[in-house]
Parts: sequence; C-alpha cells; structure tokens
Amino acid sequence: KKYIYLFEEGGKELVDLLGGKGAGLAEMTKIGLNVPPGFTITTEACIDFLRDGNFPKGMMEQTMDALHMIEEKVSRKFGNPENPLLVSVRSGAPVSMPGMMDTVLNVGLNDETVKGLAFMTDNERFALDAYRRLIQMFGEIVYGLPHEEFRGLIEKVKREKGYDEDKFTTSDITEIIKGENEIYRKHKKSFPQDPQEQLVESIKAVFNSWNSRRAKTYREINHIPENMGTAVSIVTMVFGNMGSDSATGVAFTRDPNTGEKRIFAEYLTNAQGEDVVAGIRTPKYIDDMKMEMPQAYSDLIRMCDILEHHYRDMQDIEFTIERGKLYMLQTRTGKRSAKAAIRIAVEMYEEGIISEEEAIMRVTPEIFDRILHPQVKTNGKETPLGKGLAASPGAAIGSIVFSSERAIELGKSKKMILVRPETTADDVRGMAVCEGFLTQKGGMTSHAAVVARAMGKPAVVGVETMHVDTTNNTLTINGKTLHEGDVVTIDGTSGLFYLGELPVEKPEIDKFSKKLLELADKNRKLGVRANANTPEEAHLARENGAEGIGLARTERMFLGNERIPIMRSMIMSESKEERQKYLEQLLPMQISDFVEFFKTMEGYPVIIRLLDPPLHEFLPDKETILNKIYEIKSGKNGSDELQYYEKLLKTVRDLEEFNPMLGFRGCRVGLVYPEIYDMQVRAIMEAAVRVQKEGRRIMPEIMIPLVGHHNELKILMERLEKTAKSVKDSDQVDYKFGTMIEIPRACVTADKIAKYADFFSFGTNDLTQMTFGYSRDDAEGKFMFFYLENGILEKDPFSSVDEDGVGELMRMAVEKGRKSNEKLEVGICGEQGGDPDTIYFCHKIGLDYVSASPYRIPIARLAAARANI
Ligand code: ADP
Ligand code: MG
Ligand code: MG
Repeated sequence: KKYIYLFEEGGKELVDLLGGKGAGLAEMTKIGLNVPPGFTITTEACIDFLRDGNFPKGMMEQTMDALHMIEEKVSRKFGNPENPLLVSVRSGAPVSMPGMMDTVLNVGLNDETVKGLAFMTDNERFALDAYRRLIQMFGEIVYGLPHEEFRGLIEKVKREKGYDEDKFTTSDITEIIKGENEIYRKHKKSFPQDPQEQLVESIKAVFNSWNSRRAKTYREINHIPENMGTAVSIVTMVFGNMGSDSATGVAFTRDPNTGEKRIFAEYLTNAQGEDVVAGIRTPKYIDDMKMEMPQAYSDLIRMCDILEHHYRDMQDIEFTIERGKLYMLQTRTGKRSAKAAIRIAVEMYEEGIISEEEAIMRVTPEIFDRILHPQVKTNGKETPLGKGLAASPGAAIGSIVFSSERAIELGKSKKMILVRPETTADDVRGMAVCEGFLTQKGGMTSHAAVVARAMGKPAVVGVETMHVDTTNNTLTINGKTLHEGDVVTIDGTSGLFYLGELPVEKPEIDKFSKKLLELADKNRKLGVRANANTPEEAHLARENGAEGIGLARTERMFLGNERIPIMRSMIMSESKEERQKYLEQLLPMQISDFVEFFKTMEGYPVIIRLLDPPLHEFLPDKETILNKIYEIKSGKNGSDELQYYEKLLKTVRDLEEFNPMLGFRGCRVGLVYPEIYDMQVRAIMEAAVRVQKEGRRIMPEIMIPLVGHHNELKILMERLEKTAKSVKDSDQVDYKFGTMIEIPRACVTADKIAKYADFFSFGTNDLTQMTFGYSRDDAEGKFMFFYLENGILEKDPFSSVDEDGVGELMRMAVEKGRKSNEKLEVGICGEQGGDPDTIYFCHKIGLDYVSASPYRIPIARLAAARANI
C-alpha cells in the first residue's frame, strides 16, 4: 500500500489523504513555487498506527526511500556528520486545527552532525541554535517534558547576560544545551543521538498528537470527525535563523481585519518557526521587509499574487527566508472578520478572480447580523458581570431600570437597559424607550428575545446566575448587587454584559456591503419585504432594501394615551350603535397612520393585517382594576369613576379565556363585530385614495388573520369588498384582499380558501404553534430547552421553519392554493422569514417573497440569492 506521497506527486485534491498542510505543500510544488523538497505520510497510516500501536507494514521502508530521494535532490545526507540533511516532522489534518497538534523542527541533529552543520554553513552559532531548539521541541513533544523548564532556562540566561535570545553567543547556547540535557536527566530521559530514532519517535508523536486532549476537545467543539487522523509531512529544513539576512514569518494575502487588498505580514529576522506565533519577540511588518530585504519582499508579493489567483481566495501563508532566498512552507485559506469577508468577496469579483455567484456564495448571510449592529469593543481584559444567551446582537449601554412603567416615566431623556426576570406583552411600551434588555429567564425565542430582534435592539436573556428582585429593584450576580441607575453595557453578540460603559464601534453599510447586496438582488427570484408596524420601521426597511411591507400590524395603532381609552370604551360597548360611535372616533386616527405608511412605501405593496389579538389585550389586568376600585372606595370620591371601573371589571371577566391564543381573536372577532373591520378597511381605503391623489402610486393589500374555514373568509370578503368600494374613488386604487395562513386546517383546505383570496401569507408563528400543539409562550421556558439539548428537536421550530411538518403543510397550501387561483401571491411573514434556512426552503417551495424584520433585510436579500444559485 502507498503510504507516502512526494510533494510532486500530490495536490490539493488529495487533502483527505495528505492533510491540509501536505496537500498545500504539494500544490505549491506543482505550480512551481519554491517549496523545500519533502513528502507526506498519509492519514491512512496514522489511522492504522493509532489502531494497532505500530506503523503499518512497509510505511517506514517507503519513508526511508523517500528520504533518500530527497538526499539526492539536495545533495546532503540524513545523519551524515559532514553534510547533514535536517528535516521538520509536521502534523496536518484534513481540516484545519490550528495549533492543536505538534511539529518537530531540525530533526537529524546530534552532537556530531551539529559540527557538520556549523562547518557547512560556516556559522557555529546558528548550528547550535538549531540544535538547542531540537532538543527542546523533541523533549516537549516526544517525552512530554515541561515547556516551562525549557523556557525558564532561556529566561535565566537572558537575565544573566542582559540581552535578548537573538543576541545569544555560541557559549551562551552551549550552556543552554547543557541545561537542556540536565532537564532530560532530571526526568530520567535522554536525547537520542541516532537521527533515525529521532525521526521514528517524532512521527509517532505527531500521530499520537491526534488523540491529545486539546485536539479531542477542539474536534468536539467544532464537530470534526474523530476518525480522520493526521498526515505527517517531512520537509527539508530551511533556516530563518542564519543571520540578519534570514527570517521567518506569516502573511495574509489581504488584510484579514478590513479585507483591504494589501499583504499583511509579520516576520522576525534571525529566528525560526514558531517564534513569530509564540510572541517571544515583537515581529516586524511588511514595510520593514521592503527596506530590509527588498528581493525577498518582492518575491513574497509575487508568491501571494500567484497563490491568490490559484486558490481564488485569500490565503494565509508561512514562509522562511534563508540568506535572502524565499521559501514557502504552508498555505491555506485565511480566516477573516465579517467585514473583511464581504470586502474580499466583492473585490475579488471586481478583479475578475471569482464570478458573481461565487462572490455571493462566499459570504454567509448571518454576517450581516454582526456588522449592522454597533459592537462592543473589548480588549479581552474586562471582566464581564455575567453571561446569558446572545439573543439579539449589538451593544447597548444604559442605566438599569427594573420595570417598564419606570422606564416610561424616566422617558427618552435617559439611556436605559430594562432588567426583568422575563418580559411579557405588557412590557413592550417600556421596551420601546430602552436601549436593550437583560433577562434572567427565557430562551432564544422568549418574548424579550423576539421583541428585541424585531426592534433591532440588543438583548441578553436567560442569565441563570443572575437574580432580579422586582420588589426591591435590585440585580444580584456573583455577589454583586446593582441598583436602578447603575450603568451596564450589554453585548447581545456574545451574550456577555459588563458593569460600566465600554467602548462601542458604530457599524456602516459600507460600499462593499452595498455592492454585494446589489449582486444578490440581481441573482434572486424571491422578493424581500419587511415586517414593519410604524412609519419609522417602514423607513428603515426601505433603506435596507425592502421591496414592500409583508406585514403591518394594526393593533399598535390602538395604543397610546389618546387612543386606548376610546378603544376600551369600544370594547365595553353594549350595543352596535355605541360601538360604532367609538369606531368613528378611531377612524381619522387610523387614516393618518396609514397615510404615513403609504407615503414611505410609495410604489411598493403594503400588507395591512386587520385586528388580530384577543380584545382583552387592550384592557388592564384584573388586579389593577381591583386596586383602582379599592382606592376609589376608600377615598370615597366620584361614583362615576367607580361605575366605569366596575364595568371594566365585568368586561375583563367576560372576556377571560382558558386558551386566549385559541380563543376569541382574529377573524372571529371580525365576524362577530364586523363594524371593527369595516372601520379598518375604510381607513385603509380612504388613506390610499388620499395619498394616490397626491400622485403617488400605492398598493394596499388587506389581510384577514386566522382563517381556518373558507366560509369565514367568504362572509368577511362579501362584506369588506362592499365597504372598500363604498369609499369614494376607491376604484382608482390597486388593492387586494387576502388572508393569513396560520391554521393547519387552512393549509389542508387551501384550494377552497384561495377562491376568495388574492394572496396568502404564511403566519408561521401561529402555524408552528398549532401544528406542534406547543404554546409558544410556554414552550420556551418550560421544555424547548430540554428538547433541543436532548436532540428531540434539532432546531427550534419557532426560529427556523420545521420543514418536515409545518413546511409540508406550507407546500400543500401553495400547491392547492395556486391550483384553484393561479394568480395567487404567496409569502411568509412569521418570525422565521428572516432565517436563512427558512428562506432557502421558501425559495424551494416557490413562494413569491419572504418578509422579515427591517434589520434582517440584508440577510434575507443575500440568503434569497444563495437559494437561487
Ligand atoms: P503549525 O501547524 O503549528 O503551524 P507547522 O508544521 O506549520 O506547525 O510548523 C511550525 C513552524 O515551523 C512554522 O512556523 C513553520 O513555518 C516552521 N517550519 C516547519 N517546517 C519547516 C522547515 N522545513 N523549514 C523551516 N521552517 C519550518
Ligand atoms: Mg503552520
Ligand atoms: Mg398569527
């Protein structure tokens, strides 16, 4: 069996066999770059070795044959005292595991060959330096001798002599070598003088490093299979420690932080291998090299260019300069920041290195989640107060406040972070005036998390080690207690939060992001709309490139000091006439809301959903009313007030439900009290006519929620169409009527429902809730965590559509719906609409558009393009 590949025999396609490093060395050799001769022992040999405890048959023979070929090539001999060949024994797995496994340099040196090396190179100091490095590395890697003892030895000499290790004299180094041998003796070992034994033991050590604890942990964290094994590359040594015209370094072909097209290199003169990474001395930068070693510098620039064009991506390389001559020792695709990823993709496209489609596929959509929010800038030294789930990205700084009422009271004058055990619908108004949220309980789809993402505000949720005391208004964590007004910084990107104010970096949609999104728009079929409830959100949605509104909820329009009393009176009304009277009062307010909306979305469709939540959500809770009644009674004032609150209490009791989400809401309210929807439809149409008269084209789409039976829609449509037509000049407006599809029965009977609808919009929050039979508000806190942790569910179906169940219903609804109404427009407006996996799925089943929170529009645009490539 073939266990050995010379560099000229391999190539990048053999990465599974040769590991990333071996494949890279072979590829560079093949395209003619200056790589020191060498060969690679395959991962198969490693797997056999780890299984059997010894090298597979023939492996060592093949190794020695290959070594002899190299001896020929470089005219040196392994172990020969006159003219010694030295090699490095390097690990390299098929997937990058940086720094996890071991490498031994300078193998082949002993008390004899070191003299030969000194003579051959006419540089005794250098030869001794290489030797002392081998003894140290071999001791650490093969025998596991403590690094600190070797390091301590060097530090001691440094202290005694008062100069750095690159200044060590031959006698200093000789002294170190003695000390190193002492360390071996102390641990009852000795450094093997036989080069062959050094080679064999080094290979074994590299193989074994696959199973080192840190390697295993790394694989676990990064989901890398256990059975791949590592390859071993044997490479002729070249020396960066031969004097001031020699160096060793690493380079990125582009700036890994900003993505700028300029070589980003760090190097050390008169040094070897790991010195740069180890941070022992401060490295120099590329501009110094231009001055110091102009020839090597221009060679390096040329190599980078060749490698980038060859691999068609930014590369991370290792190089060594031996007496002015440049050698390439490693190349791999370089890791980069989110911002750099975008810039590199776009510029490589513009330079003609990659295609438009490739540029789009190079950037994962979630990257935009990271770059569009202000980010905490840590230097890694700050100690966080605690850590929770990174529920909504970005940085927020503010003084803490413990209730929504208090937040509203303090108003916008102050930057605040709302701290709660958990949040509920009652907190939304308070959340609106805060910068970010911090909760003790809840998961990634808890109320706080969902609202935070929808508002685009940072949140850290589920900080289990924190105690929030809402009676005394304190937060306690790790023995520290914070009070109202204390300033904290929360980092919703990492889930960490800190005491005090940390520096923050402002994001920008830079020109590269814009360009990438333009490419994405050109390449997608799926439309991208936004969920927006206020004109401000609609405005942001447009800025981020939304092509319309996929969901505008109207219930918020009934809140606010002026409106909520009218709304409550409307709900408490005892007759239709009375109700009508209050609705008349709400009408002009709704009209002005819609006018604003339509203006921002000129030329684009706007889907407006008619009233959806149960009516009791507009009423105060029972306890508040009871307290008020008690107050009035004990204060003995106005009986008028008392009457009002008693009536309110009665209404609240009447509207009480066992399962509000399955109760009296959506079109059910619309059917029982049709005058409510009448008013809303009139408001929409009158606003539309008004805006249209200003010469702006607008396209309202009126959406009826919670339809499960086609008769619900049929009856409502007959009435609402009439209402719409009754508005003067409504025939000038290009409007549509449609329904939300959010009840499983609606999916199954979509053909019947589609007869009465111009469009469908999947409300995947309710659809998921009802398909699984999970109450969304309860699942998070009670069992979802357990389900995910134990693999019962792979993904949270409230964040990413469950394709097998909910998705199948969607597929059915699309198919049946289009069969009976071929013009049917279909989209999605649930929370999942901004999730890339869900977007791929929506593309697959042929939706017309997805609708996502304004902040996720760039993600959706990119994901939609990737789905289409
Ligand atoms: P790692 O995966 O930890 O980077 P490497 O096998 O790449 O380990 O090697 C460690 C260091 O030694 C690198 O800086 C590399 O460039 C250097 N090195 C490896 N082989 C040689 C060689 N034959 N000649 C000179 N330097 C080498
Ligand atoms: Mg390396
Ligand atoms: Mg719904």
